[in-house]
Amino acid sequence: MATLEIRGLTVTVDVEEGTKEILRGVDLTVKSGETHAIMGPNGSGKSTLAYSIAGHPKYTVTGGTVTLDGEDVLAMSVDERARAGLFLAMQYPVEVPGVTVSNFLRTAKTAIDGEAPKLRTWVKDVKGSMDALRMDPAFAERNVNEGFSGGEKKRHEILQMELLRPKVAILDETDSGLDVDALRIVSEGVNRAKEGTDVGVLLITHYTRILRYIKPDFVHVFVDGAIVEEGGPELADRLEAEGYDRYLAARA
Ligand code: ADP
Ligand code: MG
Ligand code: MG
Repeated sequence: MATLEIRGLTVTVDVEEGTKEILRGVDLTVKSGETHAIMGPNGSGKSTLAYSIAGHPKYTVTGGTVTLDGEDVLAMSVDERARAGLFLAMQYPVEVPGVTVSNFLRTAKTAIDGEAPKLRTWVKDVKGSMDALRMDPAFAERNVNEGFSGGEKKRHEILQMELLRPKVAILDETDSGLDVDALRIVSEGVNRAKEGTDVGVLLITHYTRILRYIKPDFVHVFVDGAIVEEGGPELADRLEAEGYDRYLAARA
């Protein structure tokens, strides 16, 4: 049982004119086995929340706390966060020149577990996940993210999530740029990981369509750097019907 707890998180980013406050006091708790959807308009700070939890250097935490099972996440390096069991699927994944998918996955798995995975079961696990995600075996020998299509990047993220078995996975706009078939395959991958490992999922999205495949237990509406409303899956249905206008109107 793992718990990611975010309390009063405030974050700034450096911009040309100085610093800009993006997160204005975020409170959120994600436990093992739970799926939380964070939904909000573009520019509301959803990715900033994901990057801040992951430890991206561009974002400065100015207040609040983030803990995983009571451990201070904000005091950890990016590597330590991954070893502690946090996983972030990047909205814009970076290229890793000269490193194949196969080597990348094994290196990451070894770093996170503190020992190399047993070769035979590892090869079988990788093949099993790749098959399930409808990935060509040749994909394992390509360099990470080099020339990957949008769909290949997303599949690669979910492949990592399935194999690395994090305690809490943060998926930022995993649905962006996917056609309906790819969205279904990627969503099935997330659901498999949820069934197999009790992972807690923080699913960040602008659109409700991915929530047809990945059922959230909780929905949080994110506007202007803070959670402004919370509910169950029915809240996503209302957002689908009404959009974010009511929240934006209240702000103006
Ligand atoms: P969302 O993911 O909800 O679309 P973001 O977290 O990407 O929102 O952005 C929130 C706000 O913070 C936006 O106004 C964006 O321009 C600004 N912002 C985010 N990251 C940076 C950055 N690295 N440099 C400058 N501004 C940023
Ligand atoms: Mg955005
Ligand atoms: Mg974003």
